[in-house]
Amino acid sequence: ARIARLEALPAKARARLEDGRDLNAALVIGAEGRRSAVRAAMDVRLIQVDYEQTALVATLAHDRAHDGVAHQMFLPGGPVALLPLQGHRTCLVWSEKTAFAKSVLAQSPDVALREIRARIGAVLGEISLEGQLWSFPLSMALAETWVKSRLALAGDAAHAIHPIAGQGLNLGLRDAAALAETLRDARRSGADLGAETTLLRYQRWRRFDTATTAFACDAFNRLFSNAIAPVRLARRLGLAGVDAIGPLRRLAMQIAAGGAGDLPLLLRGEALAP
Ligand SMILES: Cc1cc2nc3c(=O)[nH]c(=O)nc-3n(C[C@H](O)[C@H](O)[C@H](O)COP(=O)(O)OP(=O)(O)OC[C@H]3O[C@@H](n4cnc5c(N)ncnc54)[C@H](O)[C@@H]3O)c2cc1C
Repeated sequence: ARIARLEALPAKARARLEDGRDLNAALVIGAEGRRSAVRAAMDVRLIQVDYEQTALVATLAHDRAHDGVAHQMFLPGGPVALLPLQGHRTCLVWSEKTAFAKSVLAQSPDVALREIRARIGAVLGEISLEGQLWSFPLSMALAETWVKSRLALAGDAAHAIHPIAGQGLNLGLRDAAALAETLRDARRSGADLGAETTLLRYQRWRRFDTATTAFACDAFNRLFSNAIAPVRLARRLGLAGVDAIGPLRRLAMQIAAGGAGDLPLLLRGEALAP
């Protein structure tokens, strides 16, 4: 049953379900994605940016092996990512200006395939669509406050970001691990798991990392999704510089893989003992 009403009472959170039942808990975690009902109930302010881009997502079947290599093409309408799947299949994440994306969706799959071929060239050989094209409007939505007494947000419920650097899931995993560790420590010291003071440690741990990643992705998207000549030159020089300087390249790879910063135990591969 769906939650009809969520209340944060002094000693517990109470969810009233649409079928009339009440569920009580010390803490409710909103981890239900960018349209989080828990976030709506918390009534927090959102920092929002509409990218006026839509991601078209599909599975491509192809005759050339991808060899486990991912590709990203930076085009004026937005980045096009090819993410290898099992066998001769690849996930396409094609970000485009929304008006153009809508026109592609309104036409036959052959038109979409023609546009995809024009963007990715022959890197996968002959391609066909496996299933339909899905569409996701792209926006940033950062919750200013992640916790209140009895309530906490994690994952896209707290921070939806541009997918240009593939960081959304990484951030959510770090939230989950940091929240688990925060609650484990609170339980060890006999603290109230849903108290705002307990949850503020989690917010302090995760909010800065998330905001810097979100704004970095925002900046990358602005830098890479345009065709202005000096900007194109600057980004080519920047990428060549990062590629040429070994330590810088390794740092960029470590950040992209989610291995930098103050990592919770679970993301360092360590167990979270009770
Ligand atoms: C086009 C696109 C490409 C992306 N590419 C990447 C990438 O390459 N790498 C990367 O790291 N990230 C990527 N992301 C971001 C990534 O998908 C998200 O950051 C991630 O899925 C967020 O996980 P989540 O669990 O917080 O939310 P979600 O994945 O949205 O999951 C929330 C879940 O909660 C469920 N739910 C909702 N309401 C309720 C309810 N009331 N009760 C119970 N369940 C409920 C939903 O059904 C859903 O299953 C991409 C996003 C987009 C749009």
